[in-house]
Amino acid sequence: MTQHVHGSTNGEIRIGVYVCHCGTNIAKMVDPHKVVEAVKDMPGVVIATQYRFMCSDPGQELIRKDIEEHKLNRIVVAACSPLMHEGTFRKAVEAAGLNRYFFEMANIREQVSWVSEDPRTATHKAGQLTRAAVARVRFHEELEMRRVPIKKAVMVIGGGIAGIESALQMADAGFQVYLVEREATIGGHMAKFDKTFPTLDCAACILTPKMVSVGKHPNITLLTWADIESVSGSIGNFKVKVKSKARYVDTSKCNSCGACFEACISRPTPEYRRMTLGGRVFREGRMLDVRDKYILGPKHDLTILTGAQPMPENVPAAMEVDIEEGAEL
Ligand code: SF4
Ligand code: SF4
Repeated sequence: MTQHVHGSTNGEIRIGVYVCHCGTNIAKMVDPHKVVEAVKDMPGVVIATQYRFMCSDPGQELIRKDIEEHKLNRIVVAACSPLMHEGTFRKAVEAAGLNRYFFEMANIREQVSWVSEDPRTATHKAGQLTRAAVARVRFHEELEMRRVPIKKAVMVIGGGIAGIESALQMADAGFQVYLVEREATIGGHMAKFDKTFPTLDCAACILTPKMVSVGKHPNITLLTWADIESVSGSIGNFKVKVKSKARYVDTSKCNSCGACFEACISRPTPEYRRMTLGGRVFREGRMLDVRDKYILGPKHDLTILTGAQPMPENVPAAMEVDIEEGAEL
């Protein structure tokens, strides 16, 4: 285990600042010497310098050597995006005995030199970003990495084509996926399209096999006609409350015969969510979900249950709806 020799936050803060040229990537637009000037007199800055390639071996060695020689306990590198090299510099800092989180990075490449046209304002902005990083690193605290068990389960919210594809890919990778959709069926806007750009493929031909795969995938739990009530917790340990809206149908018994729908004078009018093939409607998502279970409105349901409407002759057992099924969390 690494020993953190200079990491105490109780003692003097001693900051080293390193401004990278990235060859000409940064230096052609930002003057690294002026960035050094902008920070060198800030409180706690012991050393401020510039170097051509900070992520190179000599660049990292420069940091390690200065930590030893100048007893630095905070490091700032003004260079590229943290996504690119934050890990590199954290390791270099750790190798010199500092806690890896006593490090801060200012992005003066992607956020400045690559997107600027005026060297003067670019240099000013780079100086300000680096000053902000120096001000921030003073408040860094020593952190320890630890492993925590996580549940390999994922929730995808929204059952449009993006949600469907994400759910399938993660389920194929072995994750337990919960796909939540507020509408009665998955498919989203793509279900409204006839053709897709740019290949002009038939939208339903792409969408429907994926919808079926979602419905049948052993690693996917599909929660249609459901809303997210709350999300709490943190990475690896989220708790999500999902409210399942009332279907007024016992989905364990419904065989999708459609008799209830035919019998209902107030049957829900399908909105845009219908799929057509050759002018024929073959799926109306407002009533059927991908598991082919019907959803009835409370008015419709109660009307039939109270006998105000004639019961259709061939209503199977599922019509004896569990009215208590209602909304549940
Ligand atoms: S640290 Fe980033 S900005 Fe500097 S040389 Fe390496 S890639 Fe370029
Ligand atoms: S009549 Fe019953 S089984 Fe048939 S679709 Fe309606 S709820 Fe399902």
